Amino acid sequence: MSKPPIIEIRDLKKTYRVGDVDVHALRGVDLTVGDGEFLAIVGHSGSGKSTLFNILGGLTPATSGTIRMGGQDLLAMSDTDRTKLRRGTVGFVFQKYNLLPTLTARDNIALAEELAGESHMHEPWFQDVLETLNIAQRLNHKPRAMSGGEQQRVAIARALVNRPTILLADEPTGNLDTENSDAVLDIMRGLNKKYGQTILMITHNPEAADFADRKVRMKDGRVLEE
Ligand code: ADP
Ligand code: MG
Repeated sequence: MSKPPIIEIRDLKKTYRVGDVDVHALRGVDLTVGDGEFLAIVGHSGSGKSTLFNILGGLTPATSGTIRMGGQDLLAMSDTDRTKLRRGTVGFVFQKYNLLPTLTARDNIALAEELAGESHMHEPWFQDVLETLNIAQRLNHKPRAMSGGEQQRVAIARALVNRPTILLADEPTGNLDTENSDAVLDIMRGLNKKYGQTILMITHNPEAADFADRKVRMKDGRVLEE
């Protein structure tokens, strides 16, 4: 028997009010993501990709629609419950890594743990993740002493340390050269295959999208299957 979907989005809408103008960023998104899927989301700038992620990550409220995540109705929950669910469920990776510059790689990862009130850093599976990411030798470095590729791999470790059900990556290779980009994508695919990690990745780059199992396109605030 196949597992139930990990994310079910139905008729999701988001309208931003800018001065007197309504900006319809999402106009009715329907999307189902299977447990353990590696999904690429492509689409032109302004098509609503980041808005969708910010809503999935609980960073932005939706205007209407439904999101079921791991069987729970995300938009019907209280803010407190949604924050709790998000901390345990969603890990975020951004284009610009967003590591704190004054902290070492290890402390950047540890801070994410502390915020979630959990501790997995010393568990064997996380040591294994660090090996996979090939940053075990870099943990005492601060971001400025690391390459972009290394920083992004630390950011992925930080996103994974709380064992999120879903990893959301918004243009994770947007700042990387081809070599580092391929290394990061290869590792994400490896994490997906080895741990069954569900990954949603936004990308502009068709070659990056080819690392995923499935590709959808966002256009004018809607999702189209490729
Ligand atoms: P993408 O990530 O695909 O480039 P976005 O989700 O960032 O698209 O943007 C979708 C639309 O929503 C765009 O028209 C953008 O200008 C608008 N938008 C995004 N964020 C905001 C915001 N915080 N306030 C007002 N408009 C926004
Ligand atoms: Mg964007």
